[in-house]
Amino acid sequence: IFFRQNQNIAITMAEKADVLVIGAGMAGLSAANRLIDDNLNTNLKVVVLEGRDRVGGRVQTATMGGGRQRVDVGGAWLQYPSKNPVRRYLHGVEQLETPTDSIALYDEDGNEFDGARISEIQAGMIRRAATCDEVVTPSDPALTLVDVMPMLQQDKIECSSDPEERLAAMLLRTTVENYMASSVEQLSGFVARYIGVGGDFVPPQNVLKQGFGAALDALAGGLDVRLEHVVTRIEILEDGSVKVSTKHGKVFEAQKAIVTLPLGVLKSGSVEFVPPLSERRRLAIKRTGFGLLDKVVLRFPSIFWKEDVHFLTCATPDRSEVSMFLSLAGINEPILVGFHQGLAALENEELGDGELREKAMAVLRRMYGPGIPEPCEVICTRWGTDPMSLGSYSAPQVSEEGFDLGLEDAAVLAGPIGKSVYFAGEAASKQPGLIHGAYNSGIRAAGEIERDGLATEATGH
Ligand SMILES: Cc1cc2nc3c(=O)[nH]c(=O)nc-3n(C[C@H](O)[C@H](O)[C@H](O)COP(=O)(O)OP(=O)(O)OC[C@H]3O[C@@H](n4cnc5c(N)ncnc54)[C@H](O)[C@@H]3O)c2cc1C
Repeated sequence: IFFRQNQNIAITMAEKADVLVIGAGMAGLSAANRLIDDNLNTNLKVVVLEGRDRVGGRVQTATMGGGRQRVDVGGAWLQYPSKNPVRRYLHGVEQLETPTDSIALYDEDGNEFDGARISEIQAGMIRRAATCDEVVTPSDPALTLVDVMPMLQQDKIECSSDPEERLAAMLLRTTVENYMASSVEQLSGFVARYIGVGGDFVPPQNVLKQGFGAALDALAGGLDVRLEHVVTRIEILEDGSVKVSTKHGKVFEAQKAIVTLPLGVLKSGSVEFVPPLSERRRLAIKRTGFGLLDKVVLRFPSIFWKEDVHFLTCATPDRSEVSMFLSLAGINEPILVGFHQGLAALENEELGDGELREKAMAVLRRMYGPGIPEPCEVICTRWGTDPMSLGSYSAPQVSEEGFDLGLEDAAVLAGPIGKSVYFAGEAASKQPGLIHGAYNSGIRAAGEIERDGLATEATGH
Protein backbone atom coordinates (compact mmCIF):
# COMPACT_ATOMS: atom_id res chain seq x y z
CA ILE A 1 0.00 0.00 0.00
CA PHE A 2 1.41 3.42 -0.92
CA PHE A 3 0.50 6.46 1.09
CA ARG A 4 0.72 9.81 -0.48
CA GLN A 5 2.62 11.99 1.95
CA ASN A 6 1.75 15.59 2.56
CA GLN A 7 4.45 17.72 1.14
CA ASN A 8 5.56 20.13 3.77
CA ILE A 9 7.25 22.86 1.82
CA ALA A 10 8.32 25.99 3.60
CA ILE A 11 8.47 28.96 1.32
CA THR A 12 10.95 31.57 2.52
CA MET A 13 10.39 35.10 1.36
CA ALA A 14 13.58 36.75 0.22
CA GLU A 15 14.53 40.07 1.80
CA LYS A 16 15.45 42.56 -0.92
CA ALA A 17 18.47 44.83 -0.94
CA ASP A 18 20.41 46.73 -3.57
CA VAL A 19 23.79 45.32 -2.61
CA LEU A 20 24.65 42.44 -0.31
CA VAL A 21 28.11 42.42 1.23
CA ILE A 22 29.22 39.04 2.52
CA GLY A 23 31.59 39.37 5.46
CA ALA A 24 32.05 42.26 7.91
CA GLY A 25 35.85 42.27 8.03
CA MET A 26 37.95 45.21 6.84
CA ALA A 27 37.11 44.55 3.18
CA GLY A 28 33.36 44.17 3.68
CA LEU A 29 33.10 47.17 6.01
CA SER A 30 35.11 49.44 3.72
CA ALA A 31 33.04 48.38 0.68
CA ALA A 32 29.70 48.92 2.44
CA ASN A 33 30.88 52.20 3.93
CA ARG A 34 32.00 53.53 0.56
CA LEU A 35 28.75 52.50 -1.15
CA ILE A 36 26.66 54.24 1.52
CA ASP A 37 28.85 57.37 1.51
CA ASP A 38 28.78 57.68 -2.28
CA ASN A 39 25.01 57.16 -2.54
CA LEU A 40 23.65 59.25 0.33
CA ASN A 41 21.00 60.81 -1.91
CA THR A 42 19.63 57.58 -3.29
CA ASN A 43 18.88 55.63 -0.12
CA LEU A 44 20.81 52.66 -1.39
CA LYS A 45 20.05 49.56 0.67
CA VAL A 46 23.29 47.80 1.52
CA VAL A 47 23.05 44.78 3.81
CA VAL A 48 26.18 43.20 5.28
CA LEU A 49 25.87 39.51 6.17
CA GLU A 50 28.35 38.36 8.80
CA GLY A 51 28.70 34.82 10.13
CA ARG A 52 30.26 35.74 13.48
CA ASP A 53 28.64 37.53 16.41
CA ARG A 54 30.98 40.49 15.93
CA VAL A 55 32.40 42.64 13.14
CA GLY A 56 36.10 42.83 12.21
CA GLY A 57 36.82 39.28 11.07
CA ARG A 58 40.55 38.72 11.29
CA VAL A 59 40.92 42.07 13.05
CA GLN A 60 39.84 41.61 16.65
CA THR A 61 40.67 43.77 19.65
CA ALA A 62 40.40 41.78 22.88
CA THR A 63 40.33 43.29 26.34
CA MET A 64 42.41 42.22 29.32
CA GLY A 65 42.79 43.36 32.90
CA GLY A 66 39.04 43.79 33.38
CA GLY A 67 38.75 45.94 30.25
CA ARG A 68 41.68 48.26 31.05
CA GLN A 69 44.03 46.90 28.39
CA ARG A 70 43.32 46.27 24.73
CA VAL A 71 45.23 43.87 22.55
CA ASP A 72 44.81 43.01 18.89
CA VAL A 73 44.68 39.22 18.69
CA GLY A 74 44.33 39.18 14.90
CA GLY A 75 45.83 41.83 12.60
CA ALA A 76 47.76 44.21 14.85
CA TRP A 77 50.34 46.23 12.98
CA LEU A 78 49.50 49.34 11.04
CA GLN A 79 51.97 49.03 8.21
CA TYR A 80 53.45 52.05 6.43
CA PRO A 81 51.77 54.14 9.17
CA SER A 82 52.17 57.52 7.48
CA LYS A 83 50.30 56.47 4.35
CA ASN A 84 48.11 53.58 5.52
CA PRO A 85 44.52 54.41 4.43
CA VAL A 86 43.07 52.96 7.66
CA ARG A 87 44.84 55.68 9.71
CA ARG A 88 41.99 58.10 9.03
CA TYR A 89 39.78 55.95 11.28
CA LEU A 90 42.26 55.96 14.15
CA HIS A 91 41.68 59.39 15.69
CA GLY A 92 43.01 59.55 19.22
CA VAL A 93 44.62 56.11 19.02
CA GLU A 94 48.21 56.14 20.30
CA GLN A 95 50.77 54.41 18.11
CA LEU A 96 54.02 52.72 19.05
CA GLU A 97 56.77 52.30 16.46
CA THR A 98 58.16 48.77 16.55
CA PRO A 99 61.26 48.49 14.34
CA THR A 100 62.26 44.85 13.93
CA ASP A 101 65.87 45.56 14.88
CA SER A 102 64.71 46.58 18.36
CA ILE A 103 65.30 43.06 19.59
CA ALA A 104 66.74 41.15 22.52
CA LEU A 105 68.11 37.93 21.11
CA TYR A 106 68.81 34.76 23.09
CA ASP A 107 70.03 31.31 22.13
CA GLU A 108 68.16 28.18 23.17
CA ASP A 109 70.03 28.07 26.50
CA GLY A 110 69.01 31.62 27.33
CA ASN A 111 72.37 33.31 26.60
CA GLU A 112 71.91 36.79 25.22
CA PHE A 113 73.67 37.64 21.96
CA ASP A 114 74.55 40.94 20.35
CA GLY A 115 71.58 41.56 18.02
CA ALA A 116 73.52 44.00 15.79
CA ARG A 117 76.31 41.48 15.19
CA ILE A 118 73.83 38.70 14.35
CA SER A 119 71.94 41.05 12.00
CA GLU A 120 75.21 41.71 10.15
CA ILE A 121 75.78 37.98 9.61
CA GLN A 122 72.18 37.63 8.54
CA ALA A 123 72.57 40.44 5.98
CA GLY A 124 75.54 38.55 4.48
CA MET A 125 73.40 35.41 4.14
CA ILE A 126 70.65 37.39 2.44
CA ARG A 127 73.14 39.03 0.05
CA ARG A 128 74.53 35.63 -0.94
CA ALA A 129 71.04 34.23 -1.54
CA ALA A 130 70.00 37.27 -3.57
CA THR A 131 72.56 36.52 -6.29
CA CYS A 132 71.43 32.92 -6.85
CA ASP A 133 69.96 32.39 -10.38
CA GLU A 134 66.67 30.99 -9.12
CA VAL A 135 66.12 34.13 -7.08
CA VAL A 136 67.09 36.57 -9.81
CA THR A 137 64.97 34.87 -12.50
CA PRO A 138 62.64 32.35 -10.88
CA SER A 139 61.49 29.69 -13.33
CA ASP A 140 60.59 26.60 -11.33
CA PRO A 141 57.18 26.94 -9.63
CA ALA A 142 57.90 23.94 -7.38
CA LEU A 143 61.01 25.37 -5.69
CA THR A 144 60.65 26.22 -2.03
CA LEU A 145 62.50 28.80 0.00
CA VAL A 146 64.73 26.14 1.57
CA ASP A 147 65.70 24.98 -1.93
CA VAL A 148 67.07 28.42 -2.77
CA MET A 149 68.28 29.27 0.75
CA PRO A 150 69.67 25.95 2.06
CA MET A 151 71.04 27.68 5.15
CA LEU A 152 67.44 27.75 6.43
CA GLN A 153 67.08 23.95 6.25
CA GLN A 154 66.48 22.22 9.56
CA ASP A 155 69.41 19.78 9.21
CA LYS A 156 71.80 22.56 8.13
CA ILE A 157 70.81 24.56 11.19
CA GLU A 158 71.18 21.55 13.47
CA CYS A 159 74.64 20.68 12.06
CA SER A 160 76.05 24.21 11.96
CA SER A 161 79.18 24.44 14.12
CA ASP A 162 79.42 28.24 14.14
CA PRO A 163 77.10 29.46 16.93
CA GLU A 164 76.68 32.95 15.45
CA GLU A 165 75.90 31.66 11.92
CA ARG A 166 73.46 29.20 13.43
CA LEU A 167 71.75 31.89 15.45
CA ALA A 168 71.56 34.21 12.44
CA ALA A 169 69.95 31.46 10.34
CA MET A 170 67.42 30.65 13.06
CA LEU A 171 66.56 34.31 13.57
CA LEU A 172 66.08 34.81 9.83
CA ARG A 173 63.92 31.70 9.66
CA THR A 174 61.75 32.81 12.59
CA THR A 175 61.33 36.31 11.15
CA VAL A 176 60.38 35.05 7.68
CA GLU A 177 58.04 32.38 9.05
CA ASN A 178 56.37 34.86 11.37
CA TYR A 179 55.87 37.52 8.70
CA MET A 180 54.65 35.06 6.07
CA ALA A 181 52.64 32.89 8.54
CA SER A 182 54.22 29.83 6.94
CA SER A 183 57.08 27.40 7.48
CA VAL A 184 60.06 27.98 5.20
CA GLU A 185 59.42 24.53 3.69
CA GLN A 186 55.96 25.74 2.58
CA LEU A 187 57.12 29.02 1.08
CA SER A 188 58.03 29.54 -2.55
CA GLY A 189 61.65 30.22 -3.50
CA PHE A 190 60.22 33.43 -4.92
CA VAL A 191 60.11 34.81 -1.37
CA ALA A 192 63.91 35.08 -1.39
CA ARG A 193 63.46 38.01 -3.74
CA TYR A 194 61.61 40.00 -1.10
CA ILE A 195 64.12 39.11 1.56
CA GLY A 196 66.90 40.11 -0.80
CA VAL A 197 65.62 43.61 -1.46
CA GLY A 198 67.47 45.80 1.01
CA GLY A 199 67.65 42.89 3.43
CA ASP A 200 64.79 44.33 5.47
CA PHE A 201 61.55 42.89 4.18
CA VAL A 202 59.40 43.87 7.15
CA PRO A 203 58.21 47.45 6.48
CA PRO A 204 57.76 50.17 9.12
CA GLN A 205 54.84 49.19 11.31
CA ASN A 206 53.17 50.56 14.42
CA VAL A 207 51.22 48.85 17.17
CA LEU A 208 48.08 50.63 18.37
CA LYS A 209 47.69 51.15 22.09
CA GLN A 210 43.90 51.01 21.97
CA GLY A 211 43.86 48.48 19.13
CA PHE A 212 42.07 48.48 15.80
CA GLY A 213 38.69 48.43 17.56
CA ALA A 214 38.29 52.18 17.01
CA ALA A 215 38.66 51.78 13.24
CA LEU A 216 36.13 48.96 13.22
CA ASP A 217 33.61 51.03 15.19
CA ALA A 218 34.10 53.99 12.84
CA LEU A 219 33.65 51.84 9.74
CA ALA A 220 30.73 49.76 10.97
CA GLY A 221 28.79 52.63 12.57
CA GLY A 222 25.55 53.27 10.71
CA LEU A 223 25.81 50.18 8.50
CA ASP A 224 23.10 47.53 8.34
CA VAL A 225 25.16 44.56 9.56
CA ARG A 226 23.35 41.29 10.24
CA LEU A 227 25.47 39.28 12.66
CA GLU A 228 25.26 35.48 12.96
CA HIS A 229 24.20 35.15 9.34
CA VAL A 230 26.40 32.36 7.99
CA VAL A 231 26.11 32.37 4.21
CA THR A 232 25.89 28.91 2.62
CA ARG A 233 24.90 29.62 -1.00
CA ILE A 234 25.39 32.41 -3.52
CA GLU A 235 23.34 32.08 -6.69
CA ILE A 236 23.31 34.30 -9.76
CA LEU A 237 19.76 34.32 -11.14
CA GLU A 238 18.87 34.50 -14.83
CA ASP A 239 18.27 38.26 -14.74
CA GLY A 240 21.73 38.79 -13.21
CA SER A 241 20.48 39.49 -9.70
CA VAL A 242 21.96 37.56 -6.78
CA LYS A 243 20.25 35.30 -4.27
CA VAL A 244 22.09 34.55 -1.04
CA SER A 245 20.99 31.89 1.45
CA THR A 246 22.10 31.53 5.04
CA LYS A 247 22.52 28.59 7.38
CA HIS A 248 19.34 29.38 9.31
CA GLY A 249 17.17 29.54 6.22
CA LYS A 250 17.12 33.29 5.57
CA VAL A 251 17.20 34.33 1.93
CA PHE A 252 18.29 37.69 0.52
CA GLU A 253 18.11 39.00 -3.02
CA ALA A 254 19.97 41.96 -4.43
CA GLN A 255 21.09 43.44 -7.70
CA LYS A 256 24.68 42.78 -6.82
CA ALA A 257 26.82 41.15 -4.14
CA ILE A 258 30.34 41.70 -2.87
CA VAL A 259 31.97 38.52 -1.57
CA THR A 260 34.75 39.05 1.00
CA LEU A 261 34.97 35.47 2.27
CA PRO A 262 38.46 34.60 3.55
CA LEU A 263 40.54 32.46 1.20
CA GLY A 264 40.44 29.63 3.77
CA VAL A 265 36.63 29.60 3.59
CA LEU A 266 36.70 29.69 -0.23
CA LYS A 267 39.17 26.78 -0.23
CA SER A 268 36.93 24.72 2.08
CA GLY A 269 33.98 24.89 -0.33
CA SER A 270 31.59 25.54 2.57
CA VAL A 271 29.84 28.22 0.50
CA GLU A 272 28.23 26.94 -2.69
CA PHE A 273 28.33 29.12 -5.79
CA VAL A 274 25.61 28.64 -8.42
CA PRO A 275 26.66 28.45 -11.22
CA PRO A 276 29.97 27.01 -9.98
CA LEU A 277 33.04 29.23 -10.01
CA SER A 278 35.10 29.13 -13.20
CA GLU A 279 37.95 26.66 -13.50
CA ARG A 280 40.46 29.53 -13.62
CA ARG A 281 39.15 31.04 -10.38
CA ARG A 282 39.13 27.62 -8.72
CA LEU A 283 42.78 27.16 -9.73
CA ALA A 284 43.63 30.54 -8.20
CA ILE A 285 41.84 29.58 -4.97
CA LYS A 286 43.72 26.27 -4.78
CA ARG A 287 47.10 27.68 -5.79
CA THR A 288 47.15 30.72 -3.53
CA GLY A 289 48.65 29.79 -0.18
CA PHE A 290 46.88 30.56 3.09
CA GLY A 291 49.20 30.88 6.06
CA LEU A 292 48.66 30.39 9.76
CA LEU A 293 49.87 32.70 12.51
CA ASP A 294 48.61 32.38 16.07
CA LYS A 295 49.17 34.37 19.23
CA VAL A 296 49.57 33.52 22.91
CA VAL A 297 48.94 36.78 24.73
CA LEU A 298 50.23 36.84 28.32
CA ARG A 299 49.39 39.55 30.83
CA PHE A 300 51.70 39.66 33.86
CA PRO A 301 51.40 41.44 37.20
CA SER A 302 54.48 43.50 36.27
CA ILE A 303 57.16 43.87 33.59
CA PHE A 304 60.15 41.58 34.26
CA TRP A 305 61.75 41.55 30.81
CA LYS A 306 64.05 43.93 28.98
CA GLU A 307 61.99 47.08 28.59
CA ASP A 308 63.98 49.01 26.02
CA VAL A 309 63.32 46.62 23.11
CA HIS A 310 60.13 45.67 21.29
CA PHE A 311 60.93 42.07 20.40
CA LEU A 312 62.26 39.23 22.53
CA THR A 313 63.38 36.24 20.50
CA CYS A 314 64.79 32.95 21.62
CA ALA A 315 66.42 31.47 18.51
CA THR A 316 65.65 27.79 18.85
CA PRO A 317 65.79 24.87 16.43
CA ASP A 318 62.44 23.61 17.78
CA ARG A 319 59.80 25.47 15.82
CA SER A 320 56.89 24.15 17.84
CA GLU A 321 57.97 26.49 20.63
CA VAL A 322 56.46 29.92 21.16
CA SER A 323 59.82 31.63 20.75
CA MET A 324 59.17 35.18 19.59
CA PHE A 325 57.39 37.84 21.64
CA LEU A 326 56.24 41.38 21.04
CA SER A 327 56.60 43.42 24.21
CA LEU A 328 53.95 46.01 24.99
CA ALA A 329 56.15 47.53 27.72
CA GLY A 330 56.62 50.51 25.37
CA ILE A 331 52.97 51.43 25.95
CA ASN A 332 53.30 50.67 29.66
CA GLU A 333 51.43 47.40 29.49
CA PRO A 334 52.84 44.32 31.26
CA ILE A 335 51.88 42.22 28.24
CA LEU A 336 53.86 39.91 25.97
CA VAL A 337 52.37 38.68 22.71
CA GLY A 338 53.92 35.32 21.79
CA PHE A 339 53.75 33.97 18.25
CA HIS A 340 53.74 30.57 16.62
CA GLN A 341 53.19 29.98 12.93
CA GLY A 342 53.17 27.72 9.89
CA LEU A 343 53.07 23.93 10.23
CA ALA A 344 53.98 24.16 13.92
CA ALA A 345 50.95 26.36 14.64
CA LEU A 346 48.75 23.86 12.82
CA GLU A 347 49.81 21.21 15.34
CA ASN A 348 49.81 23.59 18.29
CA GLU A 349 46.17 24.50 17.65
CA GLU A 350 45.24 21.07 18.98
CA LEU A 351 46.70 21.94 22.39
CA GLY A 352 44.68 23.43 25.21
CA ASP A 353 45.24 26.96 26.52
CA GLY A 354 47.17 25.61 29.54
CA GLU A 355 49.64 23.76 27.32
CA LEU A 356 50.14 26.75 25.02
CA ARG A 357 50.72 29.01 28.00
CA GLU A 358 53.32 26.52 29.32
CA LYS A 359 55.07 26.48 25.93
CA ALA A 360 55.45 30.24 26.07
CA MET A 361 56.43 30.26 29.76
CA ALA A 362 59.11 27.58 29.25
CA VAL A 363 60.84 29.82 26.70
CA LEU A 364 60.49 32.93 28.88
CA ARG A 365 61.99 31.05 31.86
CA ARG A 366 64.99 30.12 29.71
CA MET A 367 65.48 33.79 28.89
CA TYR A 368 64.68 35.36 32.27
CA GLY A 369 65.12 32.58 34.81
CA PRO A 370 62.83 30.21 36.72
CA GLY A 371 61.62 32.88 39.14
CA ILE A 372 59.58 34.97 36.68
CA PRO A 373 55.96 35.61 37.72
CA GLU A 374 53.09 33.57 36.35
CA PRO A 375 50.77 35.38 33.94
CA CYS A 376 47.46 36.57 35.41
CA GLU A 377 45.63 36.24 32.11
CA VAL A 378 46.21 34.40 28.83
CA ILE A 379 44.50 34.55 25.43
CA CYS A 380 45.29 31.88 22.81
CA THR A 381 44.08 32.26 19.24
CA ARG A 382 43.22 29.42 16.86
CA TRP A 383 42.66 31.13 13.52
CA GLY A 384 43.27 27.88 11.63
CA THR A 385 40.36 25.98 13.15
CA ASP A 386 38.05 28.99 13.31
CA PRO A 387 35.42 28.10 10.66
CA MET A 388 35.02 31.79 9.74
CA SER A 389 38.67 32.16 8.69
CA LEU A 390 40.34 28.69 8.43
CA GLY A 391 43.76 30.32 8.47
CA SER A 392 45.35 33.70 9.04
CA TYR A 393 46.26 35.35 5.73
CA SER A 394 47.34 34.56 2.20
CA ALA A 395 50.99 33.73 1.73
CA PRO A 396 53.33 32.87 -1.17
CA GLN A 397 53.36 29.12 -0.55
CA VAL A 398 54.05 26.33 -3.04
CA SER A 399 50.81 24.40 -3.51
CA GLU A 400 50.16 21.07 -5.24
CA GLU A 401 49.69 23.20 -8.35
CA GLY A 402 53.07 24.87 -7.80
CA PHE A 403 53.52 28.60 -7.31
CA ASP A 404 51.97 31.30 -9.46
CA LEU A 405 55.22 32.77 -10.76
CA GLY A 406 53.33 35.14 -13.08
CA LEU A 407 51.57 36.62 -10.01
CA GLU A 408 48.24 36.56 -11.84
CA ASP A 409 46.09 34.71 -9.31
CA ALA A 410 45.34 37.72 -7.09
CA ALA A 411 43.84 39.54 -10.10
CA VAL A 412 41.77 36.45 -10.93
CA LEU A 413 40.51 36.30 -7.33
CA ALA A 414 39.62 40.00 -7.52
CA GLY A 415 37.78 39.85 -10.86
CA PRO A 416 33.95 40.09 -10.86
CA ILE A 417 31.51 37.51 -12.22
CA GLY A 418 29.70 39.49 -14.89
CA LYS A 419 27.95 42.47 -13.34
CA SER A 420 26.54 40.44 -10.48
CA VAL A 421 29.16 39.19 -8.02
CA TYR A 422 32.24 41.20 -7.05
CA PHE A 423 35.14 40.08 -4.90
CA ALA A 424 37.18 41.78 -2.21
CA GLY A 425 39.33 40.70 0.74
CA GLU A 426 43.04 40.63 1.46
CA ALA A 427 43.72 37.71 -0.92
CA ALA A 428 41.96 39.60 -3.72
CA SER A 429 43.99 42.74 -3.15
CA LYS A 430 47.21 44.35 -4.30
CA GLN A 431 48.57 44.19 -0.74
CA PRO A 432 47.79 40.55 0.10
CA GLY A 433 47.82 39.48 3.72
CA LEU A 434 47.39 43.00 5.04
CA ILE A 435 44.67 45.02 6.71
CA HIS A 436 45.06 47.93 4.32
CA GLY A 437 45.03 45.49 1.39
CA ALA A 438 41.63 44.27 2.56
CA TYR A 439 40.46 47.86 3.09
CA ASN A 440 41.62 48.98 -0.38
CA SER A 441 40.02 45.95 -2.03
CA GLY A 442 36.65 46.89 -0.51
CA ILE A 443 36.94 50.41 -1.93
CA ARG A 444 37.89 48.92 -5.30
CA ALA A 445 34.90 46.54 -5.35
CA ALA A 446 32.50 49.36 -4.39
CA GLY A 447 33.95 51.39 -7.28
CA GLU A 448 33.40 48.51 -9.71
CA ILE A 449 29.74 48.30 -8.70
CA GLU A 450 29.30 52.03 -9.17
CA ARG A 451 31.04 51.84 -12.55
CA ASP A 452 28.71 49.03 -13.68
CA GLY A 453 25.66 50.92 -12.43
CA LEU A 454 22.89 50.28 -9.93
CA ALA A 455 19.17 50.77 -10.46
CA THR A 456 18.38 52.35 -7.10
CA GLU A 457 14.61 52.07 -7.52
CA ALA A 458 14.86 48.25 -7.48
CA THR A 459 14.10 47.84 -3.78
CA GLY A 460 11.59 50.64 -3.77
CA HIS A 461 13.65 52.90 -1.47
C1 LIG B 1 47.02 36.54 13.78
C2 LIG B 1 46.97 37.52 12.65
C3 LIG B 1 47.88 38.55 12.60
C4 LIG B 1 47.84 39.48 11.56
N1 LIG B 1 48.70 40.53 11.59
C5 LIG B 1 48.53 41.55 10.70
C6 LIG B 1 49.22 42.76 10.88
O1 LIG B 1 49.95 42.92 11.85
N2 LIG B 1 49.05 43.75 9.96
C7 LIG B 1 48.22 43.60 8.89
O2 LIG B 1 48.10 44.53 8.09
N3 LIG B 1 47.51 42.44 8.73
C8 LIG B 1 47.63 41.44 9.62
N4 LIG B 1 46.88 40.31 9.53
C9 LIG B 1 46.02 40.13 8.35
C10 LIG B 1 44.74 40.95 8.41
O3 LIG B 1 44.14 40.81 9.66
C11 LIG B 1 43.81 40.44 7.31
O4 LIG B 1 44.49 40.47 6.07
C12 LIG B 1 42.55 41.29 7.14
O5 LIG B 1 42.00 41.62 8.38
C13 LIG B 1 41.57 40.52 6.29
O6 LIG B 1 40.38 41.27 6.11
P1 LIG B 1 39.26 40.69 5.14
O7 LIG B 1 38.13 41.62 5.19
O8 LIG B 1 39.86 40.35 3.83
O9 LIG B 1 38.86 39.27 5.76
P2 LIG B 1 38.15 38.97 7.18
O10 LIG B 1 38.57 39.94 8.20
O11 LIG B 1 38.38 37.54 7.47
O12 LIG B 1 36.63 39.22 6.84
C14 LIG B 1 35.82 38.26 6.24
C15 LIG B 1 34.55 38.13 7.07
O13 LIG B 1 33.74 37.11 6.50
C16 LIG B 1 33.11 36.40 7.56
N5 LIG B 1 32.70 35.09 7.07
C17 LIG B 1 33.46 33.99 6.83
N6 LIG B 1 32.69 33.01 6.35
C18 LIG B 1 31.42 33.49 6.29
C19 LIG B 1 30.18 32.95 5.87
N7 LIG B 1 30.07 31.70 5.39
N8 LIG B 1 29.07 33.73 5.95
C20 LIG B 1 29.14 35.01 6.41
N9 LIG B 1 30.29 35.57 6.83
C21 LIG B 1 31.42 34.81 6.75
C22 LIG B 1 34.18 36.34 8.63
O14 LIG B 1 33.64 36.09 9.90
C23 LIG B 1 34.82 37.72 8.51
O15 LIG B 1 34.22 38.64 9.39
C24 LIG B 1 46.88 39.35 10.54
C25 LIG B 1 45.95 38.31 10.59
C26 LIG B 1 45.99 37.41 11.64
C27 LIG B 1 44.97 36.32 11.69
